[in-house]
Amino acid sequence: MEHLDPDRLVLFALSEEAEDAAESGHLARCATCRDELDTLRTVTGLGAETHDLRDLPPPPEQIWQRIEADIAEPVRQQKPSPVRRSRPRWLVPVLAAAAAAIVAVAGTVAVDRFAGRAPAETVTARATLAPLATVPAAAGGTVRVLSDGEMRIGVRNLPLTTGFHEVWLIDPDDLTKMVALGNLPDQGDSVLPVPPGIDMNQYRLVDISDEPHDGDATHSGRSLLRGILTE
Ligand SMILES: [Zn+2]
Repeated sequence: MEHLDPDRLVLFALSEEAEDAAESGHLARCATCRDELDTLRTVTGLGAETHDLRDLPPPPEQIWQRIEADIAEPVRQQKPSPVRRSRPRWLVPVLAAAAAAIVAVAGTVAVDRFAGRAPAETVTARATLAPLATVPAAAGGTVRVLSDGEMRIGVRNLPLTTGFHEVWLIDPDDLTKMVALGNLPDQGDSVLPVPPGIDMNQYRLVDISDEPHDGDATHSGRSLLRGILTE
């Protein structure tokens, strides 16, 4: 029996094209082609899954077996067997992409779990960051200084920048005295070490600035959020 063209099966799995009468007739009779199509639907469906491991389908054992089979394939192909249909070449990149998607989702879940862990350290100071007048009112953040000298910073709705966001500790009694702590990542909370020897009672103003990539290490003058550390 002549099987369906693998490229056609991919299009069916992606819902790009519908089977014609002869093709659906073949699918109804041929378990091989049906299995191939089911696997492809599982693979293409993974891309649409949300980033939550609980929503994933059960571990696709069949997919891993097929990947292993593909790895072993070149050895077997050294003996030509014209009867047997060789594994289609397109299947390898499709399965590799599915494997990468699974790894990426698992990684995201691991990071989420790590970030969700309750810190065991003692909070020695905290601040609520408020937007300056030039910044949308929805922007803001929180800062916690821990007894081990780390500062945990969470920000939300910061205006986009073509440069980067930098964290500063400033002496509110003399705004020319300041220390740069580091850059904020584009998303999520960050942990920055407070340089040893900094008097947090003096440098108690936390400032988030918008810094251009101009090679100038001093404050740009464009503050976005500010808050005072209190115990
Ligand atoms: Zn078939």
